[in-house]
Amino acid sequence: MSDPAYDLVVIGAGPGGYVAAIRAAQLGSKVACVDKRATLGGTCLNVGCIPSKALLHSSERYSEAKRGLAAHGIRFSNVELDLDAMMQRKQKIVADLAKGVDFLLEKNKVDRVVGTAQIRAPGEVSVSLSDGASTSLTARNILIATGSEPATLAGVEIDEKRIVSSTGALSLSNVPGRMIVIGAGVIGLELGSVWSRLGAEVTFVEYLDHILPGMDGEISRQAQRVFKRQGLGFRLSQKVTRANGTGQGIELSVEPVNGGKADELSADCVLLAIGRRPYTDGLGLDELGVTRDSRGFIEVDARFETRVPGIFAIGDCIPGPMLAHKAEEEGSICAEILAGQTGHIDYDRVPAVVYTWPEIASVGKTEEALQEQGVAYKVGRFPFSANSRGRAVGATDGFVKILADAATDRVLGVHILGPLAGDLISEAVIAMEFGAAAEDIARTCHAHPSMGEALREAALAVAGRAIHI
Ligand SMILES: Cc1cc2nc3c(=O)[nH]c(=O)nc-3n(C[C@H](O)[C@H](O)[C@H](O)COP(=O)(O)OP(=O)(O)OC[C@H]3O[C@@H](n4cnc5c(N)ncnc54)[C@H](O)[C@@H]3O)c2cc1C
Repeated sequence: MSDPAYDLVVIGAGPGGYVAAIRAAQLGSKVACVDKRATLGGTCLNVGCIPSKALLHSSERYSEAKRGLAAHGIRFSNVELDLDAMMQRKQKIVADLAKGVDFLLEKNKVDRVVGTAQIRAPGEVSVSLSDGASTSLTARNILIATGSEPATLAGVEIDEKRIVSSTGALSLSNVPGRMIVIGAGVIGLELGSVWSRLGAEVTFVEYLDHILPGMDGEISRQAQRVFKRQGLGFRLSQKVTRANGTGQGIELSVEPVNGGKADELSADCVLLAIGRRPYTDGLGLDELGVTRDSRGFIEVDARFETRVPGIFAIGDCIPGPMLAHKAEEEGSICAEILAGQTGHIDYDRVPAVVYTWPEIASVGKTEEALQEQGVAYKVGRFPFSANSRGRAVGATDGFVKILADAATDRVLGVHILGPLAGDLISEAVIAMEFGAAAEDIARTCHAHPSMGEALREAALAVAGRAIHI
């Protein structure tokens, strides 16, 4: 048999796939990267992280201009929303970054193939091209990085106009009068915040009795209070059983989860944001013997190899947090393992960020997880209302919370609700990667005045010796 054309064929050019392709090429492999989308970057760049953050930033500026600047002594009238311009800005950011990924693949001599891939056999990928033709790629190894898609709910039919997924919610052509968001998780809260700031009356219907499942309970409760003050409405412990389009809008049937009287809600737009599920359709996995768990995630070993030798998988389509940086880490590590190096990812050191205002960020164990595991811990907290930079910029909501081992003082988890939480968390991740004790953070000099000082003060508070509170 002749040598395969490629060392590695990557299926999917999201943050997992394209990073794996580049890293493998850097390490000397001949690589092809296939994606059915015409633009690179996957969910994250096209309909996820980047467009949502562009809209969050624009809507925050709008809401600040409308409500927030008088306190700074800046007054103006006639603040107007140009939604088309806001959407065009978002699209340009996406297009420019996608061109950047194109450039990176070219620079690293990764062959790019636009089409839908199917694995015919280990070492053989067939690709249906957009013009109807097909091509076959042979490879020593195949990496599946096909990501995820929005989860659906029986009785709620997405049309991406009035009942939308996150994809539709990134491109509405008008600000809805009333919007109902089904699911108060990260994506729902971010996109609900966007449309609320732009003028919609937004209500969340959440199955659980709290928002932000998986986050530290104290942070989630405090965040809900702040969001309520911003005008967001919450109906917790309720489930949506049906959504029907009417001439006027959408009628939703909701029921208390624990039984009780059903209710009808009406809205102009419904955003279904109950999570995402792995996307592995059409790859031919069952025929190959690649196994998936009960939730559809591809099963892999510590080397990201599936049950079938030579077929690997990373990112949203395997178990673990569904985050772009987790997919990237796995992509790099998998490429390094294929090149004969070693590598591993510590999922306890993968940060998670919610880009609302204020932001929410966390890494490591929550207080609930430590209690469940019976770990003795100490807590240090510090509020942004006592942080001088927070005061200076008028961002005083929220706090930093550090959880440290009661015996060793080692940092076990850091949770932040507050300004720049998404950037501040990197310091906590590095500290934890180096096995820091709370005292190590407390004894590290932080610039004044900075939000980072709140992290240091929380570390001091672990030993009961915060200075500024
Ligand atoms: C609204 C929204 C906001 C988000 N915000 C954040 C955030 O702020 N931070 C964060 O970390 N994460 C965020 N995420 C999650 C993030 O987008 C995903 O975790 C990340 O994109 C997963 O990367 P991936 O490479 O595994 O898959 P994806 O990015 O989903 O890429 C998979 C690619 O595979 C392609 N593909 C699938 N099947 C085939 C096939 N058979 N043939 C060829 N190509 C195929 C798809 O077209 C797609 O381009 C957000 C998601 C959404 C929806």
